[in-house]
Amino acid sequence: MVVQKGAGGNILRIYQPYKHRILTSDEFIEDIRLRVKNFVDMHKLIKGNETILLGLSGGKDSFVLLDVLSMIHPVSKLIAVSIIEGIPGYNKHEDIMRMKRMAKDYGVDVIITSFREYVGHSLYEIVKMAWKRRLKVSACTFCGILRRRILNMYARMHGASFVATGHNLDDTAQTMLINILRGDIDGLIRMHPRSKPPSSKMVPRIKPLRMVYEWETSLYAYIMRFPFQETECMYITSTPTLRAKVRRVMQRIETEEPGTLLRMVKTLDDILTPLLEKQFSVEELPLCPRCGEPMNVGRPVCKLCELFEKIGVSKPIYQMFYNTA
Ligand code: SF4
Repeated sequence: MVVQKGAGGNILRIYQPYKHRILTSDEFIEDIRLRVKNFVDMHKLIKGNETILLGLSGGKDSFVLLDVLSMIHPVSKLIAVSIIEGIPGYNKHEDIMRMKRMAKDYGVDVIITSFREYVGHSLYEIVKMAWKRRLKVSACTFCGILRRRILNMYARMHGASFVATGHNLDDTAQTMLINILRGDIDGLIRMHPRSKPPSSKMVPRIKPLRMVYEWETSLYAYIMRFPFQETECMYITSTPTLRAKVRRVMQRIETEEPGTLLRMVKTLDDILTPLLEKQFSVEELPLCPRCGEPMNVGRPVCKLCELFEKIGVSKPIYQMFYNTA
């Protein structure tokens, strides 16, 4: 990607290396909107007037998701949830309020919640407890499971047909490669845009920005002057995760061979489609006896309840929702 700026800092020309073409900023914005719409239409991700719950983190991708979805779906059918994880210096109250104000301008209500509300502790406290007990579980593991749980819970509460997240092409390609490296075929198949969740308690997830590069969502947010938060989470470099290694390798290959990530995701989707349609039967997952949420077959309790027990939290708040229901 090469960007040519004018005297006032305005972007004049953008080079899209994987298409070998130069666009103006207006053409670039139009291109992204059209590609997202075509992707959603091609996979029939949204059929009509379904309610969609947007997971908005306050980062650039969530602003782009809000903007593009409001162009292709009635805003009265969009609701959003923002989660405060409780990480020092990250996703602060004022960042979330900025996001909420912008969503309101689009006509979309944002529900603000937090890990503390769902579990009784911030992520910072959870990680401290895990480290104290020498548990080798990264902050991102707790964070990922909790975010998915909370979004799913709100989607169920509001009768949403889908949860839409701002995952971009880079995120998608990295997860695909991680699943291949780990031999996780089920995980790979579940990444197909049309795959169904393995439990009736899980609201289907859609990723409208799935074929848009991360540099493109960044540029889109910059051109549109979205007030996104630019601070990085302090945990991003605290553990050398497989994702961090995969990200580095993929970025290098993409720079040398533009279009690689797009081709990889598209090729895998094409291979997964027949598998999905012919060979993969979705088995309804059992429910955790402690919290009532879906868990993998063969486990005595779900991964989240197991992790909280290990760090010494005997009664996380979310278990009480289930036991008093
Ligand atoms: Fe959560 Fe990890 Fe992302 Fe930080 S880097 S916000 S802990 S997933």
